[in-house]
Amino acid sequence: MSLIPCLDLKEINRHHRDALLAAFTRVLDSGWYVLGVEVEGFEREFAAWCGAAQCVGVGNGLDALTLIFRAYLQQGVMVQGDEVIVPANTYIASILAVSAVGLRPVLVEPHGATFNLDPARIEAAITPRTRGILAVHLYGQAADMTRITEIARRRGLKVVEDCAQAHGAVHAGRAVGAWGDAAGFSFYPTKNLGALGDAGAVTTSDAALASMVRTLRNYGSEKKYQNRYQGFNSRLDELQAALLRVRLPLLGAENARRREVATRYLETIRNPWVRLPEMPVEAEAHVWHLFVVRCAERDRLQAYLAEQGVQTMVHYPIPPHRQEAYRGAFEGSWPLTEAIHAEVLSLPMGPHLTDAEVARVVSAVNGWGV
Ligand SMILES: *Cc1c(COP(=O)(O)O)cnc(C)c1O
Repeated sequence: MSLIPCLDLKEINRHHRDALLAAFTRVLDSGWYVLGVEVEGFEREFAAWCGAAQCVGVGNGLDALTLIFRAYLQQGVMVQGDEVIVPANTYIASILAVSAVGLRPVLVEPHGATFNLDPARIEAAITPRTRGILAVHLYGQAADMTRITEIARRRGLKVVEDCAQAHGAVHAGRAVGAWGDAAGFSFYPTKNLGALGDAGAVTTSDAALASMVRTLRNYGSEKKYQNRYQGFNSRLDELQAALLRVRLPLLGAENARRREVATRYLETIRNPWVRLPEMPVEAEAHVWHLFVVRCAERDRLQAYLAEQGVQTMVHYPIPPHRQEAYRGAFEGSWPLTEAIHAEVLSLPMGPHLTDAEVARVVSAVNGWGV
């Protein structure tokens, strides 16, 4: 019995081999490898794809988010010690981006059905030092940006989106990356839009912010060898940009296939011990980066599925506030977040899955009992 992998990048990229090789050759032969026409082209194409005015290519997703907050500090919009509201159950990068520049992450519990920041809990977490909300579109589902941006506007807060898992998700007719004051994307190879290495981008319709991020990603320099700020080196390189330009036009169809797989799982997995995620009212609000089920006996379910040749993963086993790196950093308790981390299991998901593989995953899950 062959193994069904959680994600098969080799299989996905095999279909685009010729186009990827052509892009590689174009960059190789150009003799220009950092900040050139490919990055400019990708920035233009990705901004248009999201419906944002500007896109700035950077080294990875963590840097994209960090550079946004760093830019707000440089502009004086935020000062060190200011607070930013972040979901307690997210990948640690969201929280690192805030703490790395001397801002204080304030952890807020998620909504049990969506795993995303619960708008009903945001206002109670706002203090006189709060300056921003970092909304994470976790597992591929757009957070409730209508309510989040409404609260932010009323309370005078910036909204930053972590779009690392949700390229192409659309909330109320507008894509993620075009809702907040700024957004960070990751193109890590496993993301819905993935490069063949590390890559990331900031999107925004704030021209001054875009220009600050552009300067900070390149040593704080607007003019060669003149440094206005103490910047970073975090540039999207020409090769990754050229490869992403091959992948971007395929993203819509790949997300549609992910949605088909999710629909099949939702319609045919029937196991009283396994709690399924919900299809959002607006189907386009979810691009199914991950298909995450909950089970009180998660580790036993995972072991059983492995025996059946179905690979699964846990996103994520330890919440950020329980990580060694943040020991003693946060006060409070986040029982919902902890329950989620103890119970979640990610089934195979991706555009590479065949109908037969999806059916095998379903019968394996349905065949398990406590
Ligand atoms: C992957 C990811 C990031 C970080 O992206 P990198 O490119 O790996 O730095 C940030 N936030 C979330 C939610 C992610 O899944």
